[in-house]
Amino acid sequence: MEEIMKRAKADLEQTQIAIYETALPLYKKYFPNADQQNVADTRKVTAAVLDKLAEQHPNDATVVDYAKKVVTEATDFVKRHDVVGIPNVLLDVIAMPEFKRGVAIAYCDAPGPLEKNGKTFFAVAPTPKDWSKERKESFFREYNNYMIRDLTAHEAMPGHFLQLARSNEFRAPTLVRAIFQSGPFIEGWAVYCEQVMAEQGYGGPEVKMQQLKMRLRAICNAILDQSIHAGNMTEKEAMDLMTKEGYQQEGEAVAKWKRARLTSAQLSTYFVGATEHLDLRAAEQKKLGDQFNLKKYNDQVISYGSPPVKYVRELMGSRWNALSSTRWHCTSLQRQIFDIVFGEPDPPWYQLLTRRFLPSLRFRGAAADDFFVAANRTSSSRLNVQRRLVPTSRNSISYQPSIRST
Ligand SMILES: [Zn+2]
Repeated sequence: MEEIMKRAKADLEQTQIAIYETALPLYKKYFPNADQQNVADTRKVTAAVLDKLAEQHPNDATVVDYAKKVVTEATDFVKRHDVVGIPNVLLDVIAMPEFKRGVAIAYCDAPGPLEKNGKTFFAVAPTPKDWSKERKESFFREYNNYMIRDLTAHEAMPGHFLQLARSNEFRAPTLVRAIFQSGPFIEGWAVYCEQVMAEQGYGGPEVKMQQLKMRLRAICNAILDQSIHAGNMTEKEAMDLMTKEGYQQEGEAVAKWKRARLTSAQLSTYFVGATEHLDLRAAEQKKLGDQFNLKKYNDQVISYGSPPVKYVRELMGSRWNALSSTRWHCTSLQRQIFDIVFGEPDPPWYQLLTRRFLPSLRFRGAAADDFFVAANRTSSSRLNVQRRLVPTSRNSISYQPSIRST
């Protein structure tokens, strides 16, 4: 807990600097006549730019179509920039049902892990019918055109929709892992995706401003969560933190104060999970240096379902160590082999193996039979097979019936 607080406070400071640095060129662009005194005022500059960007916003009539457009745009961006592989699952952008409106502007409703061929809904909200004109205006200023892009990165592409679709493809020996998913892994991934998209330049500095604002929100959430439940934070202190340090609107902060007192430990998951994801990526980057490939990394991180990040770190370590020495360049083949050998015995992958993957693998002699038999039995026999698979060139793998001890 102390570590989370320490990191949250350090991150708060760094993110405030980052948002000011991002805001400054925009400030000079939008307010060319501002005097020098204003330019040096970090809070004023940041708040003024956020306020300016809020002017570009949709309304009740346009928000759903606008979100549809943004989903297509974000999907193209993810493809063009090789951020992560895109699953072959449909995403339906719909208007949020009336009874759910008035809280968040959007949410992602993925099929349950046991549902076959379920659709994912990205629900986007026009405001409730009984809201006043002013309240609607304030809501859409918050969820302006740029914020909807950041939000789409979080909720849909490449955030929740993409990750949960991948997670549903994962097959473990029992259903337990499919049903008990890690909140910090899932929320952390979505927050991490907002950052990845901003790093890649999605939507320019205007969207980056929203991403950093949301990052500040996640950090404040973590600080609030433990300061309220394990400390003595007052309402005044909480409001100051959110509105002054985190640039949040009054209405949003009031609602958060309520949510923070009614829940505990959930509000921290965004910050804790994102920090774990960023730490994991930093460690891989350090380990692999020039060989680090963002798409490959992201694909791998979300290939194990939705377990706590620490287990992903473990799984990646062992798998990577098993293969890094082989200079194995063929990504898709590598992934297939992973899925087959490290995957769990379950009819779907076995069928996949025979139908689709076999032609791309070249086995010597009777090895294929050995392989199938072993791969379909216990985990130790699969491990044995895994040790005997040796890549012979970029596109082929051979199976060595006996292995030399090293
Ligand atoms: Zn989320």
